[in-house]
Amino acid sequence: MFKHQFPFFANKPEQVYLDSAATTQKHESVIAAVNNYHSFSNATVHRSAYAIANEATQLYEEARTSVAALIACNNSSQIILNSGATESINTIAAGLHRDMLQGEKILILASEHHANILPWQQLSKRLGMSIDIVHLSKDGQFQQSEYEAFKRQLNESVAIVAMAHVSNALGNIYPVQSICYLAKQVKAISVIDGTQAIAHLPVNIEELACDFYVFSAHKMYGPTGVGVLFGRMELLENLTPLKLGGEMIRHVSFTDAQYQAPPLKFEGGTPNISGVIGLGAAAKFLSANLREIQNHEKRLYETLTSGLLQIKDLNLLGNLNPSGKTDVCSESIGLHSFVLKNHNLHDLAQLIYQQNIAVRVGHHCAMPLMQCLKVAGTMRVSIACYTTEADIQTFLDCLVNAIQQLKTGDDIKLQKIGSARKLGKQLDEDTKETANLPIAAKIRDAKGWDNQYRQLMLASKHLKILPVELRIDENAVFGCESELWITWCDERLCAYTQSKVVRGILALLLEKVDDLQNGSKQASTFDYFGYLTELNLSQFFSVGRKDGIQNAIAAIKNKLV
Ligand code: PMP
Repeated sequence: MFKHQFPFFANKPEQVYLDSAATTQKHESVIAAVNNYHSFSNATVHRSAYAIANEATQLYEEARTSVAALIACNNSSQIILNSGATESINTIAAGLHRDMLQGEKILILASEHHANILPWQQLSKRLGMSIDIVHLSKDGQFQQSEYEAFKRQLNESVAIVAMAHVSNALGNIYPVQSICYLAKQVKAISVIDGTQAIAHLPVNIEELACDFYVFSAHKMYGPTGVGVLFGRMELLENLTPLKLGGEMIRHVSFTDAQYQAPPLKFEGGTPNISGVIGLGAAAKFLSANLREIQNHEKRLYETLTSGLLQIKDLNLLGNLNPSGKTDVCSESIGLHSFVLKNHNLHDLAQLIYQQNIAVRVGHHCAMPLMQCLKVAGTMRVSIACYTTEADIQTFLDCLVNAIQQLKTGDDIKLQKIGSARKLGKQLDEDTKETANLPIAAKIRDAKGWDNQYRQLMLASKHLKILPVELRIDENAVFGCESELWITWCDERLCAYTQSKVVRGILALLLEKVDDLQNGSKQASTFDYFGYLTELNLSQFFSVGRKDGIQNAIAAIKNKLV
């Protein structure tokens, strides 16, 4: 319904974009606002009085007003414009001091983004505080029982409660309004990370009565590198600013300085003016359309949920009810996070990416949550206002096919034999011949992505598998997007990873090691990465995987010297 308002899709009509929780595409009004500023009003803000400088300052301050309106904040001086949620939370955590806090604990949810964990770790060290965790169910759900436990943990010992309004890894919507009310009763400061809520739910700062609310423009159809820190005025007045420099001061001598009042106190340095103006346009777009967007996303979420629930090998994590179904708990925005039983998600993703579908696989900057859920990562599918029924259907069809392909990948050879038999044919000479060819030759002969993928799947069966008892830290190789171990066993180099693609690559590498050693060549100095590249396998290395493959090569070389 909104898709035609996003120029990206006119330029990339074949792209199915289901990674809006990572960053959204940009609304046409955002692109126009940024472009107009650069084309017609480019000057810096708050410093000069000539016409375009006034114009730029006016556009910048109008954006602040639009952001305030989006979150129903009636004093735009409480809206600080900065580089995003990460900077906002860092500003709060670094700027708080002991006499602003009652209690010793910082209470956070198990599903927090690293940006809402690390700054609190620093603060707890600086002020000698401790961090307490509110846990989710084993499937990542936040329901009545988790809520009751949360309420019990939120007592007078708590100085700060820092939590997301919506989890980026699971989609869970948390009952922030009731939590902020309870926090106030025990005099705890409430910090709400609204980064994943702002584009999907109405936010009313007065009703929430939180002390701080933060978000980033790029998750709400605005530009990257710009965002918002809303704070209660008394707290902002007391908070020590993080960025010291130009324009945040009233008076400076060589030994001392007096700061401006909020918001400028926190906006030291030349700001991201075009970004802020783009953010203002995004805020206006959302204010005008949020209800419609919410209903649209809810419908798509229901289609996605029922499609995913029909795939029996998936384990869906997090809350599964669309927003508005219940009063406090168990709701989710249009986002699903899941794991696939017995298969590696990166292998699955590789098949999905081939169909121009963007989804995210990994820990979603929530590593501690992944540890709680006992998974290495999840596949996350996230919906935005421009998502269509067709996008969801294409994804579901592709997912079913990809899972089927992964499962039958185990039996490609058998299938080939089976279908040859069914056709009443003997296995032809070709197949017999290729069965004995080196992996490298088969990969070299395979034309196109599909055939190479198939060969890697077959090659994965040739890897000498490392026994479970040797899959220990000492033998671990990091950076492959999935766990990987390599070491000697029975006088052979063995390895294990759940990813079949990586197993195939390792089988190929170890075949080369054997070749070099049999030919009395230096196996420990060979350029294995160049070898993989020459075989055209770099198309299987995502940015994340490339480092891991290089680490695996380094580990192999290490074992050889
Ligand atoms: N919090 C949440 C819940 C997020 O999803 C993100 C971005 N993934 C952040 C904080 C950090 O946002 P940014 O990188 O824009 O500062």
